[in-house]
Amino acid sequence: MKVMQLDKPGPAASQPLRVTERDIPDPGTGQVLLRVLTCGVCHTDLHIVEGEIPLPKLPIVPGHEIVGEVVRLGPGAEGLHPGERVGVAWIGDTCGHCLFCLSGRENLCPDIRFTGLHHAGGYAQYAVAQASFCYPIPGRYDNVSAAPLLCAGIIGWRAIRRAGIQPGERVGLLGFGASAHITLQVLRAWGCEVGVITRSAEHRELALTLGAAWALPYTQAPPHLLERAIIFTPAGETVLAALERLQPGGVLAIASVHLSEIPPLDHDRLLLGEREIRSVTASTRHDARTFLALADQIPLRLDTETFQLEEAGLALLRLKEGRLRQAAAVLRIAE
Ligand SMILES: [Zn+2]
Ligand SMILES: [Zn+2]
Repeated sequence: MKVMQLDKPGPAASQPLRVTERDIPDPGTGQVLLRVLTCGVCHTDLHIVEGEIPLPKLPIVPGHEIVGEVVRLGPGAEGLHPGERVGVAWIGDTCGHCLFCLSGRENLCPDIRFTGLHHAGGYAQYAVAQASFCYPIPGRYDNVSAAPLLCAGIIGWRAIRRAGIQPGERVGLLGFGASAHITLQVLRAWGCEVGVITRSAEHRELALTLGAAWALPYTQAPPHLLERAIIFTPAGETVLAALERLQPGGVLAIASVHLSEIPPLDHDRLLLGEREIRSVTASTRHDARTFLALADQIPLRLDTETFQLEEAGLALLRLKEGRLRQAAAVLRIAE
């Protein structure tokens, strides 16, 4: 089978991923073999390819927004049948018996394994996954539209809840890409007034089309202060920009998996007034299932640009340079 493999991290412009052939893997105990139909390209893949987050091993096959068809089940794998379409997300496996796993916080498990980092991911024609970490995908989404739901959608959903957002609140989204464009639609379905702050004029336009009350560049002040805000960019200075726009008692959630250093933060001016900053770390299977159930209720419009498997490096470069024509990039593999 064909895979896109990372042997050594490097700048996206140097195209660190290379096409190579591997044997189709055998599903181990509790695993399933999937024929990969599509795989989303996430910002985290860019951090992996460029070595900005610690890499547990090399080589790596990235890709953790896998839409796949079950080919066969390994020993002890249950609950799935050949031919079924499932999704695989960033959380690939956990220990199942630590304090975090036993208290509904498996995203914080010290032995958590991520898809496309510890496990070979979906930038490949086939992938194996733990059967208990595969999710049914609502039938209303085609294989391309379904891919961004699996990380961009799920992480946005966790960020919504980490920020404590209640229906009807005034919310700001800072940075606008795959995750924010889905999160915006969920919040609109909840009757929230959503403002978007992003550098890109195209993304501001898309945000307005999707129901944002306003969409502004960082250089302009929003019409009012925000009750809640979520950051989707990897730029540390965005934290200060968000706090400046947050009303007293407001909460800021950081959905980014990696953030550059936050510049010195003036407590008396930006944090005092019981403003809170909360991180968002991966997600749980419960997040995935509840989000996909929600996506079955709310008809989300997915704004995708597709690439071939061999073009994964190009997709990552476009993502890095802000040159994607649409909000989310998806690799068409067996589609
Ligand atoms: Zn655990
Ligand atoms: Zn992701």
